Amino acid sequence: MINDPCAKPSLISVDDAIAAILESGTPITGTEIVDVFDACGRVLAEDVCSAIDVPGHDNTAMDGYAVLSSDCAEAGRSLQVTQRIPAGTVGSELSPGEAARIFTGAPIPPGADAVVMQEQCELADDTEPARVTIDTTVKPGENIRRAGEDIRQDSVILKAGHKVRAQDMGLLASVGCASVTVRRRLRIATFFTGDEIITPGEPLAPGQIYNSNRYTLRGLIQSSGCECIDLGIVPDTLDATMDVLKQAAAQADLVITSGGVSVGEEDYVRIALEQLGELKMWRIAMKPGKPVAFGRVGDTLFMGLPGNPVSVFVTFLIFARGLVRKMQGCNEVTPQRIKVRADFEWPEVVRQEFVRARLVNRDDASYAEIYPHQGSGVLSSASWAHGLVDIPVGRVINTGDIVDFLPFEGLLG
Ligand code: AMP
Ligand code: MG
Repeated sequence: MINDPCAKPSLISVDDAIAAILESGTPITGTEIVDVFDACGRVLAEDVCSAIDVPGHDNTAMDGYAVLSSDCAEAGRSLQVTQRIPAGTVGSELSPGEAARIFTGAPIPPGADAVVMQEQCELADDTEPARVTIDTTVKPGENIRRAGEDIRQDSVILKAGHKVRAQDMGLLASVGCASVTVRRRLRIATFFTGDEIITPGEPLAPGQIYNSNRYTLRGLIQSSGCECIDLGIVPDTLDATMDVLKQAAAQADLVITSGGVSVGEEDYVRIALEQLGELKMWRIAMKPGKPVAFGRVGDTLFMGLPGNPVSVFVTFLIFARGLVRKMQGCNEVTPQRIKVRADFEWPEVVRQEFVRARLVNRDDASYAEIYPHQGSGVLSSASWAHGLVDIPVGRVINTGDIVDFLPFEGLLG
């Protein structure tokens, strides 16, 4: 443990910090049953199996005519149209020489083994019953969606630890599943230090700034599918900080704060944590966001993010997101990275940097363009960007080099 700022401890690498943070987190155990309708963003606590085959029956992928392929070995065969099968109805046995008018999704009638799309058929409806000429040869199985080709009865369709997305809600519904067992929501308590910060809606006095971190963190916590317990703004005193930290730890699984973790005389968060619990680490070789205090108060984990608005956003994504997902019981905690080309130059760095960037497509490649002002207080850079370029320690970046890009899309939620 590093707890003496005067000792000038060395900085921990980003990877070591991520590993240590993840190591400390354990999945919460409580579960609840929710309607699939309300399951977006929830983490499945159990594997989900399908009780049925999907599709449930062989059905047609086209509007057209169900036929016996053996009747259509050559083009130009004329067949008698003996039945009409709209979706939602069931036809009867088809005999040689017969065709059934059929519509997308309707079950293939017994006896038929192919569907000819209507564009390849000519209907003569002046006869009774009508006849249809098939202008093509037909292979068995043509235009038929097979029973179970999407999902087999009793197969696992989603695994425990999967975070439910829109398409998963549809998948669950497609097998008739109305509710799922999910982990209870993770409870995250937040508070915001700083005598200079005030809440939007109030006029700014000289020297004051708005508490933007409260809103950034709220969005991050909500889009992660967690419950956010907002304990508000805390004055820069040790007593007030200790009081709110006690309260936060008693109510939540994880406490995330902003500001007050540096070595300034007005920074009390780290000290309060040391007094009430344990500080595991707090200096990371990263930019933005060097001071990130990580530890625990009793069973509640604690993450003190820096005060600068961009640092809060970036350190949440790099450190808190994985921890949150692990505690939620998610089986995927590592964010996606994609390789893109740099549309910028960057000198060698001694702290790993995460620069705000946008992707532009050019010459068959994606290029990362960076925001011209990368200051840790410049929140416009995060709003402008599509994601972060990871600039490792010791590497010089030249235009056209391949770099790692972490899309916000993959990091949020
Ligand atoms: P600190 O880490 O407390 O030294 O704060 C670093 C910088 O972030 C200072 O410029 C603070 O004014 C600013 N800051 C701290 N908390 C917030 C907040 N909640 N919203 C916006 N800016 C903040
Ligand atoms: Mg402060």
